[in-house]
Amino acid sequence: PRTQSIGKRCETVKVVVRCRPVNKKEETMNHEKIVEVDTRLGQVSIQNPKTPGSVMKTFTFDAVYDMASKQNDLYDYSCKPLIDSVLRGFNGTIFAYGQTGTGKTYTMQGLPTDTEKRGIIPNSFQHIFTHISRSQNQQYLVRVSYLEIYQEEIRDLLCKDNNKKLELKENPETGVYVKDLSSVVTKNIKEIEHVMNLGNQSRSVGFTKMNERSSRSHAIFVITIECSDMGVDGDEHIRVGKLNMVDLAGSERQSKTGVQGKRLKEATKINLSLSALGNVISALVDGKSTHIPYRDSKLTRLLQDSLGGNSKTVMVATIGPCSNHYEETLTTLRYANRAK
Ligand code: ADP
Ligand code: MG
Repeated sequence: PRTQSIGKRCETVKVVVRCRPVNKKEETMNHEKIVEVDTRLGQVSIQNPKTPGSVMKTFTFDAVYDMASKQNDLYDYSCKPLIDSVLRGFNGTIFAYGQTGTGKTYTMQGLPTDTEKRGIIPNSFQHIFTHISRSQNQQYLVRVSYLEIYQEEIRDLLCKDNNKKLELKENPETGVYVKDLSSVVTKNIKEIEHVMNLGNQSRSVGFTKMNERSSRSHAIFVITIECSDMGVDGDEHIRVGKLNMVDLAGSERQSKTGVQGKRLKEATKINLSLSALGNVISALVDGKSTHIPYRDSKLTRLLQDSLGGNSKTVMVATIGPCSNHYEETLTTLRYANRAK
């Protein structure tokens, strides 16, 4: 018998926390380090800088990654099992959640040209195409879509006319889908990297305040893997697995004071889909809920077939190490804690 069900690595929802290194600005400003990471116990502790010497708050997760953690370690231990299950025909979703500047994009994308610093998305390319090249008697078809949700509006990052708003539709048989979303067949690592780069460029073109926008939108990279093989009965069997890799909008509380009109509306919408996601995940983890509130946001509707059921989910919550972000870091740890 296969020993799949041993240990936390096989649970449906896994929550891990990663703390980024102290940055130049924090170093110059001499901000105190208030986060401690115990990788052996899977714990993160945080000290309230206003009450030095008080007991630290400690949270336990499925895995934790400290400042010195390597991209490969996070991939191998926390993501590989999920991608293996997608290769077996299941759906899976990996999220990066956290305040802007804590390493969501670094964790998901990293520096794709540097093998040491490649993030989850490029590492998954390597994994998927290596698996395919080693397989025998099986035919694979790998398709990619890349989209963005900004203010509850969906845009195709692989389409020339990327300002077009796409609609979310529901088909009684196949479920929720994005109407007219591009889907590009890729045959090797080079091709899929090229598609990813095109999408990344599209994210940044034409917007004056690119950073602001990217920190306020959810980017979803979707790989669909179809595998067909001949069964012993001589019939063709097809399995389809879908992998969603999501760089979420920054989780920082949008300040409500002094913000009006468009900005306030935008802030409310970002918080809405992040809190909807938190509600869905905690309902799934709870296991007792009869109602999973997928319908509350575009993000959760879109990911409905890849959250819960037979799907695996990994949430990587990213945090900073210093006192200047105490409140936001604590909020992120609480959100992540609720999801496990
Ligand atoms: P976010 O996407 O959450 O806004 P970024 O991924 O852009 O944050 O990270 C902010 C900065 O910190 C970037 O310069 C990034 O390279 C750096 N950084 C983040 N996490 C790490 C890490 N684990 N190791 C090294 N540098 C990191
Ligand atoms: Mg980012």
